[in-house]
Amino acid sequence: MANSRFEYVKQFEREHHLLPDTYIVIRVDGKGFHKFSEEYKFDKPNDLRALQVMNRAAQAVMSQFSDVLMAYGDSDEYSFLLRKQCSLYERREMKLITMFASSISTNYYYYWNEEFPEKPLKQSRLPNFDARAVTYPNFSLIRDYFSWRQVDCHINNLYNTTFWTLVSKGGMTPKEAENKLIGTVASDKNEILFSQFGINYNNEPEIFKKGTILMREMTQEESEVNESELSSRQKQRIEKKRKKAEIKTYHEDLITNENFWTSRPWLSL
Ligand code: ATP
Ligand code: ATP
Ligand code: MG
Ligand code: MG
Ligand code: MG
Ligand code: MG
Repeated sequence: MANSRFEYVKQFEREHHLLPDTYIVIRVDGKGFHKFSEEYKFDKPNDLRALQVMNRAAQAVMSQFSDVLMAYGDSDEYSFLLRKQCSLYERREMKLITMFASSISTNYYYYWNEEFPEKPLKQSRLPNFDARAVTYPNFSLIRDYFSWRQVDCHINNLYNTTFWTLVSKGGMTPKEAENKLIGTVASDKNEILFSQFGINYNNEPEIFKKGTILMREMTQEESEVNESELSSRQKQRIEKKRKKAEIKTYHEDLITNENFWTSRPWLSL
């Protein structure tokens, strides 16, 4: 089609290049997963195998895009942190978000079939994800970003755990449970769980309370490099190391654990 008289229509295309020298966070979120989780009868409040599908799909996305240094996810969402110097797709926003949305969707489908061979996905309800990209100019904002998502995970999980306990063990209807929780704060929910059902929320699985962190584990030596001073050959070597670096999984507190961040100085380079 090159050089045809029709080619002028290409000029109508517009690109948004994400601001250079900023951290990029791409967050994907499942479309209509409330319904999706009902259709495929997820365990409530948390279906562990469904979380594994998300985690394995996110890990596959991270393997595919070596610029992703870290990812955090819970429920039907995942946030991917791309390094500051990343030049993937020349930082074109449309390319980035459409590639991440389609990669998480297709990988979710793939790992669903591995985790749930007895529950094939129906064509009428397939997993779809949207994606957005946000740029942040400094690393303190990145830490606050991940703290925000982890607090969200905690608040939702405490609510959902209490709600479903009232329904499944307390014999309430969903409407009654909802009404009971109106206006309650965290300590009230902890108290309901403990005094009425003998459940200590602190003993709930970490993966439910904290979500999942995926880290591309680099080494100190790789982290001391200032990229702007490197030849393209040296850059390629580092790129290769990033690709080969192991991706590890954690369910830890990101908010108060200073060491989690300071022991990984390459995250903020
Ligand atoms: P939207 O399309 O606006 O994102 P949504 O229905 O996906 O709508 P979310 O706010 O993203 O709404 O919430 C996702 C919902 O998916 C949760 O509220 C929960 O009901 C369900 N869900 C996701 N993962 C799990 C899981 N592992 N176990 C149980 N339920 C889950
Ligand atoms: P990019 O990621 O930049 O889009 P690309 O390799 O997908 O790279 P395109 O310009 O999109 O490049 O071209 C798609 C290519 O896929 C075609 O040039 C052709 O080689 C191949 N292709 C796609 N569909 C078919 C098909 N049905 N039969 C044979 N080849 C196909
Ligand atoms: Mg949503
Ligand atoms: Mg959703
Ligand atoms: Mg969600
Ligand atoms: Mg193509």
